[in-house]
Amino acid sequence: MDAIAFASVPNPSHAPFSSSSSSSLSASSSRVHRFSVRDPWRRRRRLPLPALRSQRPESAADKSASYHDVVVVGAGIIGLSIARHLLLHTPLSVAVADAAVPCTGATGAGQGYLWMSHRTPGSDTWELAVRSKQLWEELAAEVDGLGGGGARERLGWMRTGSLLVGRTSEEMATLEARTKALSQAGIRAECLSAASLQALEPELYVGHDGGAMFLPEDCQIDAFQTVSLIEKTNSSYSSEGRYMELYNDPAMSLLRSETTGTVEAVQTSKHILYGRKAIVIASGAWTRTLLHSFLEPNPILDIPVMPRKGHLLVLEKFDKLKLNHGLMELGYVGHQVAKSSSTPLPSETSEDKHGALSISMTATINTKGNLILGSSREFKGFSREVDTSIPKYIWDRAAEFFPTLKNVHLDISENTEIRIGHRPYMPDGKPVIGSVPDLPNVLIATGHEGSGLALALGTAEMVTDMILGNPGKVDFSPFSIKDRSSSVKLPLLSLSILWNI
Ligand SMILES: Cc1cc2nc3c(=O)[nH]c(=O)nc-3n(C[C@H](O)[C@H](O)[C@H](O)COP(=O)(O)OP(=O)(O)OC[C@H]3O[C@@H](n4cnc5c(N)ncnc54)[C@H](O)[C@@H]3O)c2cc1C
Repeated sequence: MDAIAFASVPNPSHAPFSSSSSSSLSASSSRVHRFSVRDPWRRRRRLPLPALRSQRPESAADKSASYHDVVVVGAGIIGLSIARHLLLHTPLSVAVADAAVPCTGATGAGQGYLWMSHRTPGSDTWELAVRSKQLWEELAAEVDGLGGGGARERLGWMRTGSLLVGRTSEEMATLEARTKALSQAGIRAECLSAASLQALEPELYVGHDGGAMFLPEDCQIDAFQTVSLIEKTNSSYSSEGRYMELYNDPAMSLLRSETTGTVEAVQTSKHILYGRKAIVIASGAWTRTLLHSFLEPNPILDIPVMPRKGHLLVLEKFDKLKLNHGLMELGYVGHQVAKSSSTPLPSETSEDKHGALSISMTATINTKGNLILGSSREFKGFSREVDTSIPKYIWDRAAEFFPTLKNVHLDISENTEIRIGHRPYMPDGKPVIGSVPDLPNVLIATGHEGSGLALALGTAEMVTDMILGNPGKVDFSPFSIKDRSSSVKLPLLSLSILWNI
């Protein structure tokens, strides 16, 4: 079963790098609330998760070693997609190691939107988003070609179209500008008045001044189904010796050649994984801590990726609200694009610089008939604690847009699942994809924040091109680590030591 009783959620303080102040469930919450929390740790064989710092690593000699062309650290959507792309498009062999299991991180909480509506033509992430969307479309078409339930069944794929909703004349002006910019960039987009919107989404209320931008080509997936399909594809390469996955086995350190200083392997809690060509760190919001651990006691390369916690509310087989599209309030866009947008954004966007909670309405119905309502954003470290007030805030926010919900009593003990994830947030609003200065065979792919599902396939292609030394379909330069960290040049002396063992 995917969903479990809240009271039996394993103590999240076992999570890797749980550095937050409070990562255990409060006594009151564990006793009183019986709603379910999707916890990927329960989905598979669950082993104790060693915290990197509290565990004394075994010596390298005690561990079993294996040789691969590429080692990927992290089996979220980014790490698994990178492995998939390498396996499908190159002859290289790949090992993936995760501290827990796939969907433990942000991926398991993702709403599933593969949207263009909140992208800005000409921005640093635009090309990557366009390419990634194209790759998703190709994957869906390929899966459809396999017959059976096709992409809908295997990926939770739906071409719902997206509605980015505004309720004031100021927001409508922003939506009109966005519609124009997206249309000029070749995306089908239409700005709808409140009256036209009524016909598309009868239960949505935006007031007289409101409306929405409609992108009929926008799609959604189910993160769990998609990850499962990608895992299946990857595993099909195991028999020919090209793929190995190690779950519940956190990466602990990097091993370097004493003679050349090159990083040769990743040491996990149980294995040494040699990566002849490259080592890719795709450990989401944990990447900053992981790098610190990898590079200590030497000068630190500080990639300022931070966990931005989100709650999502899933109401199973919900039949009291009918939705025809995926929806999002315009206020959400400001959280997504941070500083990288050239389009003016509504004023509410500077919300949580100091860690305060913000809630924006997102709503869709998935292929299983579940209503998915989002979402919250806050900086709260790596706590996996469910803040029981947040589902109610999410519900109330949704009810402002869908008045019919005001007449429905939210009973979170009934068929309700709460998902929690830590978006890998970068302060400059774009992912970090590229090699570590002075360690050219170590690549980082993280910082996708609220867009990791949408950008995963494009990121995977980009990382593959980087490893192969290809020019790439999308310009790499906006994602480079350079100038985005308090990078300290690693002294040559340090290159000859074996790390953290
Ligand atoms: C509420 C919410 C809604 C969202 N909605 C959307 C959406 O609609 N569309 C969209 O595109 N994106 C969405 N996102 C964002 C998206 O989910 C993330 O950007 C994406 O999942 C990030 O993927 P990742 O692989 O980088 O990180 P993660 O999924 O966090 O994966 C990182 C992995 O690294 C592992 N790890 C950590 N430390 C170690 C270690 N030492 N050794 C080995 N492994 C380690 C973790 O166990 C984890 O499995 C949403 C996120 C949230 C929270």
